[in-house]
Amino acid sequence: MLFGRKNRKPISIPSKKVEEWKYTTCNYCSTGCAIEIGLNEDKKIVTTRGHAGADVNRGKLCIKGLLEHELFESPGRGTQPLIRDKHYEEFKPTTWDNALDTTAAKFKAIQEKYGRDSVAIVSTGQLLTEEFYTLGKLARGCIGTNNYDGNTTLCMASAVSGYKRSFGSDGPPGCYDDFEHTHCFMAFGSNLPEQHPIIYWRLKEALEKRKFPLIVVDPRVTMLAQFADIHLPITPGTDCVLINSMMHVIINEGLQDKAYIDAHTQGYDELQKLVQDYAPEVAQHQCGIDEDTIRTVARIYAKAPAAMSIWTMGINQSTHGSDGVANINNLNLITGNIGKPGGTSLSITGQCNAMGTREWSSCSGLPGYRYLENPDDRQEIADFWGIDPEFFPKKRGLAETDIFPAIETGEIKALWIVATNPMTSMANTGRIRKALENLEFLVVQDVYEDVEMNQYAHMYFPASVWAEKQGCHTNTERRVNLIDNVLPPYADSKPDFWIFNQMSKRFDNGQKIKFPDEPEEAFNEMKALSKGTNAYGNERTLDISGMSYEKIIKARGIQWPYSEEDAEACIEKGEPRLYTDGQFQTKSGKANLICVDFYDNNEKPCKDYPFWLNSGRVVEHFHTRTRTGKIGNCNKFSPTPYMEMNPDAAAELGIEHQTYVRLTNKRGDAVVLVQLTQRVPRNMVFIPFHFHDCVNRLTLGLLDPYSRQPAFKQCSVRIEHVDQAEAARLNAERRAY
Ligand code: SF4
Repeated sequence: MLFGRKNRKPISIPSKKVEEWKYTTCNYCSTGCAIEIGLNEDKKIVTTRGHAGADVNRGKLCIKGLLEHELFESPGRGTQPLIRDKHYEEFKPTTWDNALDTTAAKFKAIQEKYGRDSVAIVSTGQLLTEEFYTLGKLARGCIGTNNYDGNTTLCMASAVSGYKRSFGSDGPPGCYDDFEHTHCFMAFGSNLPEQHPIIYWRLKEALEKRKFPLIVVDPRVTMLAQFADIHLPITPGTDCVLINSMMHVIINEGLQDKAYIDAHTQGYDELQKLVQDYAPEVAQHQCGIDEDTIRTVARIYAKAPAAMSIWTMGINQSTHGSDGVANINNLNLITGNIGKPGGTSLSITGQCNAMGTREWSSCSGLPGYRYLENPDDRQEIADFWGIDPEFFPKKRGLAETDIFPAIETGEIKALWIVATNPMTSMANTGRIRKALENLEFLVVQDVYEDVEMNQYAHMYFPASVWAEKQGCHTNTERRVNLIDNVLPPYADSKPDFWIFNQMSKRFDNGQKIKFPDEPEEAFNEMKALSKGTNAYGNERTLDISGMSYEKIIKARGIQWPYSEEDAEACIEKGEPRLYTDGQFQTKSGKANLICVDFYDNNEKPCKDYPFWLNSGRVVEHFHTRTRTGKIGNCNKFSPTPYMEMNPDAAAELGIEHQTYVRLTNKRGDAVVLVQLTQRVPRNMVFIPFHFHDCVNRLTLGLLDPYSRQPAFKQCSVRIEHVDQAEAARLNAERRAY
């Protein structure tokens, strides 16, 4: 038998009798793959394929994208609004008018009694950008609560915070094309093959064409680490120590880019002084990477003509998340690796439209990266929407992770949850359940009526899914792409855009602010707001003024900034990189080098709880499985929660492969199936986070002081034996769900 790529036979795919292909974009992860949905002659959806002409995925899709068309008629879809007085009573069907009237009346009554901020709204990273913009108008302009946030606080808040601190604005400066130009690729806490398979494929393709060092920093031997030239199995939560030590080597050996530092940064002297405390021979004892390896990696990175860093949740989900991002930016700034091909600081985003909410939802401020704290920004948006600027708060309210404690204390009485599932996704879910019982009114807006959050809801709004709606996403590399209506909404579900519009009519300011009927009109409002200069007089990077739905489809996605002048000059695809001129969005125009000192506040393994508990993703599932849990083949390949455990540690405890164990700590317990593997060190276990009533019963979730993002990956557990028959029964029940 002959092996090798050239001898592979093409796979033959059975004909699905597709009559028409419709263009859209994947609605799972932030890679932003362009998709075509195949309809047969009866206009029934029969298949999905990657768009061959799209720059992002060039015809490829991962398992989730390939099966995405099965979502439209998946079990558990909400068919009509539901209402009940108490969360333990049976739901009753109701009309949309009654559902919206009742919700608006409840919100107003609660606000009148307890104050405007007693109503909170928590949304997601999975709506369309026009929907985010409209929800922002409703939340900030009509309902007027300051306790409004998105679940992006659980995944991307540290990246946003770190970018703002370093560069004066959010917005990843690099792109996937940087893989083609880089001479050194360093990944922090990012397992691309499982989390972002198509980005990984782009990296692999670049590596096949031109070899460059792949360095992976991760406490676990992830799939990406297995392909690395150098794997740094770092002690959890100590990335700042490693980076400070790398900068110590770079600066002390004169490998920094002095010209770039002088021209484009500020704060170098303080940084240089700080990193003197992080000599590799000292740092190795904190971060667990030996001194020679630290020196080697620092030299490779600094000497590369262009070097880039990527990161995902291994950095963000930490009490040092924002600092970790700022420090990765420091590393790239002092080596002159920002804004040049192959030299960048690229946060790989999680959710499909986490970028869209960052840009336009007004969760952390006002639309288009404007700040509530800035009077000019408040005035500009108030004028644009036609309301009094005094209606806006003067600083940001609570983040999602602070909203639940405020429900516990009674400060927040009503909650509107949009397309997110904190009962599974938040740390310490036992505490979340208890908090939810305190609410006077909970509205859950979701595609699925069997989503766990609905157990506590008083009102359920059935939302339409994915390509039953129209609007844009922005992906990790700032590429705006379109989702188009392929099907009408399922049963009596409604697009989120429609739900927000209808709700606005029930508030006083909803009569003053225009809420357009069509998503493209909302897109045109965003375009108008994206032009011009920011508070410091710098040109706005988030400029989408040259885009239109037609142009986006034609180019199969356009990266911002893309101005009217770009459109007039017939540029098709936008700007691949930010800060190419070294001009940042700060007052001085220079990037901030930020001193990041390490303080050790993690919960760590101890005598009673001797294992680190780490969590992450598997390729088959997305988030809390509200969607992929309904797709047959995703479940078939990943049916059950499991725990990776080192065989030596297991032998010591008398635990065998594929038996059940119970994990316990101060917060709760979880029963999981053991998978013995050398991927985890002896003092660590790893569990995928997708499954309900599992790993987040145990996580502590200490918060990052800047981003309020929880540390999901740094806590400790004990492992106990369980009755195997009982555990198998529990597991079967969970799978049946
Ligand atoms: Fe969708 Fe992400 Fe898979 Fe692409 S890589 S098909 S965007 S889930």
